[in-house]
Amino acid sequence: MTLNLASKRAVVTGSTSGIGFAIARGLAEAGAAVVINGRNNERLVEATERLRSEISNADVTGVAADLSGAAGAASIIERVPEADILVNNVGIFMPKNFFEIPDEEWEEYFQVNVMSGVRLSRHYGRQMIAKGWGRILFNASITGGFMPGEMAHYGATKAALLGLSRTLAETLAGTGVTVNSFIPGPTFTEKAAAFLKKRSEQEGEDEQDVFQQDLPTSLLRRFIRPEEVANFVVFLASEQASAITGAGLRVDGGIVRSLL
Ligand code: NAD
Repeated sequence: MTLNLASKRAVVTGSTSGIGFAIARGLAEAGAAVVINGRNNERLVEATERLRSEISNADVTGVAADLSGAAGAASIIERVPEADILVNNVGIFMPKNFFEIPDEEWEEYFQVNVMSGVRLSRHYGRQMIAKGWGRILFNASITGGFMPGEMAHYGATKAALLGLSRTLAETLAGTGVTVNSFIPGPTFTEKAAAFLKKRSEQEGEDEQDVFQQDLPTSLLRRFIRPEEVANFVVFLASEQASAITGAGLRVDGGIVRSLL
């Protein structure tokens, strides 16, 4: 199977690092013109240059925009009026006790994690219908259905994305536009690496033991690599995934003990 995204334009939110960066790289490797996004202009330029140097003939554009409000989504739309593939990847997360999360933080999580995807899907989705082809993807996380106590606001936004994604798929039935959520398990980004290192130093145990203690149901017995999530997303964004829509699909190393 050859995945060929030449002639497709993809917007990937929150993609200067981590899973988003790996998705942007995977899409660019498959031939798509890719628009990456982050808040910090310096990091955006760095990420854009990296993709251009790593992938020959990569068509990469960077748009600096803070997606914690409507203005951020509007500036992406202004710079990139058309797209065939939208990956709503951006998401913020930090463990915090439920009783210590103020309203402002709940609001921020919903703005960044949910509303950014609502706003961009509303714009690009209409165009995709007109073209008769499109892919809308949401990065949902296993935390959307398997919520640890210290991540109430994060888990709630990820559960909301699963509902949003299914509803949007229903709305776009029969249009040639598919809508799905991909559901990663613990993925080894810079943030995860720093967190694991800190836990390992605190506990005086090696990182593999800490992983096993914290995530005992992982069948993979290691963190997922960002490119392993990206491989799945590139497939979902391709023509070959044309019969997959309205789904929440796990790429979680088997951590959730359930068949469905
Ligand atoms: P990361 O922290 O490595 O990357 C964050 C990216 O988002 C950066 O490009 C940053 O600039 C951007 N960003 C943050 N706030 C932004 C804002 N307000 N506006 C615009 N851009 C912003 O994150 P990650 O771990 O790669 O996570 C990416 C997505 O994957 C998130 O939706 C997260 O919930 C999801 N996820 C992560 C894991 C994991 O273990 N890392 C597991 C499941 C799901």
